[in-house]
Amino acid sequence: MTKIDRTYLDWNATAPLLPAAREACVAALDMVGNPSSVHGEGRALRMLVESARRDVAALVNTAPAHVIFTSGATEAANLALTPTYRMGRTPLAIGHLYVSEIEHPAIREGGRFSRENVTTIPVTPAGIVDLDALEAVLQTHDKAKGLPMVAVMLANNETGIVQPVKAAAEIVRRHGGLLVVDAVQAVGRMPVDIEVLDADFLIVSSHKLGGPKGVGALVSRGEVLMPAPLIRGGGQEKGHRSGTENPAALAGFAAAARAAVTDLVERNTLIADLRDALEAGMRTATNDIIIHGADGERVANTSFFSLPGLKSETGQIAFDLEGIALSAGSACSSGKVGQSHVLAAMGFDAALGGLRVSLGSGSTTADVERFLAAFSRIVSRRRMTGNAA
Ligand code: PLP
Repeated sequence: MTKIDRTYLDWNATAPLLPAAREACVAALDMVGNPSSVHGEGRALRMLVESARRDVAALVNTAPAHVIFTSGATEAANLALTPTYRMGRTPLAIGHLYVSEIEHPAIREGGRFSRENVTTIPVTPAGIVDLDALEAVLQTHDKAKGLPMVAVMLANNETGIVQPVKAAAEIVRRHGGLLVVDAVQAVGRMPVDIEVLDADFLIVSSHKLGGPKGVGALVSRGEVLMPAPLIRGGGQEKGHRSGTENPAALAGFAAAARAAVTDLVERNTLIADLRDALEAGMRTATNDIIIHGADGERVANTSFFSLPGLKSETGQIAFDLEGIALSAGSACSSGKVGQSHVLAAMGFDAALGGLRVSLGSGSTTADVERFLAAFSRIVSRRRMTGNAA
């Protein structure tokens, strides 16, 4: 199967590597030395790592010293979600974790909290975290066990629905808690500023931006309130994350981060136009399509839809046979199409499931046209047979 035959509409699972990121990775791979070495070779790599830190900090408008590099968003989440914190030199206990029901499994699994210390916050049928429920549950929080920690994502990976993080932050502050925000699907798709959001920690990932996989960061608000390290050893990343840095991955991440903040509004306006054309075309082809979150605020690139009579697994295979890569929600590590916990949380028939189209900077009108042609064929097969495959 040649690349030319395929149309890639699964940018939320992972974005294709940007040429600039690739070049930066390759150049860094050829550099000799360890960033912690004091000789010239080591110092050159240290400069590269610190330059990457500046670029990733700029992605969320903070100081470079607030960026801890990790092996990706999942590791960053496991670093942040822990009952053991320090405020300077003083240990600080976090008693309970509250996570929105639509969080990515990286968050929903609760990191280093034990199961009984994790509570989920429901979302409304519109797919938005229920702030009244958050307020109510924080009122019952037992501070004697430690502070509350709340995790609310900024943009959902399945629906693209933007969450009211600032409003959640107000509630969390009122209850003296900490707020961790998974911004993985938001950076590069909307302005993200840790100060404006009033979050204590943000989580970002390189491969959703067109950087390499296996690298991400936990970004903190300051340097005083910090989680106990998850990985101990040589003390890299100021002791917050030991292990020799991966300069090639960091160079690629940095290039992708720079691209993500360049022409942010213009790029996303073009992507929104493509997404809107795609949704208008689907509505023309069939009037029983349900587009989740279409009436609310979404990031520009995502369309998550359900078609009565078309199971997401069947639909995904049908599109794949048409040469189109899309997803049935979040990419599942087992390769199986699981039921969408996001649709279930929204009170939708999760057994029917949904299909997610996610676009990016390389998406074109031709991609949308090819998708719509395939969509029409699949819809008419469904009409004839009650089945799309
Ligand atoms: N959070 C969200 C919202 C995601 O979409 C993903 C990736 O699918 C992750 C976290 C995990 O990111 P990583 O692959 O860098 O561990």
